[in-house]
Amino acid sequence: MKEPDAHANPPVDGSELIRFDHVTKRFGGNTVLDGLDFSVDAGKHVTLIGPSGSGKTTILRLLMTLLKPDEGTITVAGEQLFPASEKQVREVRKKIGMVFQQFNLFPNMKVLRNITEAPVTVLGLSKDEAEQRARDLLDLVGLADKCDAYPTQLSGGQQQRVAIARALAMRPQVLLLDEVTSALDPELVAGVLDVLRDIARTTDITMLCVTHEMNFARDISDQVLMFDSGHVIESGPPEKIFGDPEHDRTREFLGAVL
Ligand code: ADP
Repeated sequence: MKEPDAHANPPVDGSELIRFDHVTKRFGGNTVLDGLDFSVDAGKHVTLIGPSGSGKTTILRLLMTLLKPDEGTITVAGEQLFPASEKQVREVRKKIGMVFQQFNLFPNMKVLRNITEAPVTVLGLSKDEAEQRARDLLDLVGLADKCDAYPTQLSGGQQQRVAIARALAMRPQVLLLDEVTSALDPELVAGVLDVLRDIARTTDITMLCVTHEMNFARDISDQVLMFDSGHVIESGPPEKIFGDPEHDRTREFLGAVL
């Protein structure tokens, strides 16, 4: 496998890239995030774990500006997300790639075009440059021979690997991964997780990952955040959270999923 190119504007490793300050998000009367504070340094891999409904996906959706917080501030690479002009939001969005549970590929486009579309239309790359980048990334995710396939001709695991390549083609500083293996047949999960392990190991990309795959979380994370009811109830390196959790809720949760 080839390593992807360096990012266009790599952040200084170790500097703070993402910051949530007192972020509250409500849906009607349901307070999903309640004064949440956390930060992620550039180049780190942070995993969000916790029971279903504890607000993990909401955090990723706030970062993608798909939702707005009711209170508090979110900062990405020094730029505040809300309030922000449309131009500022567009600039921040370019720094963030997201892979969803459902792969969301464009069904009417071949694999190569799925990956080149945004680099050409959003970043202004030439078709040749975008195709070269796409081929390198397909090589990285082990699908160099699938350029001309349509998404429906691929397995779910292959489609998800294309979705990962598509996100990386924008050379984001941050990759958000939202339960990316949850919709896959069990035998296809390992291939996708192996690709992500490789990316975590060989690139300087910052990862924020919601997952129920605890072995994967243990392998790739610098830090694990345990959520419950809109709060981080415990955080630390994976050895601590998985090996010696402090909170009863963390122990209960891990007992149920491990
Ligand atoms: P998790 O990712 O931890 O499972 P989510 O962030 O998806 O949790 O959801 C947290 C809570 O917010 C859940 O109770 C969910 O039903 C609610 N929620 C999420 N999105 C919406 C929405 N668009 N409208 C109303 N409620 C929502």
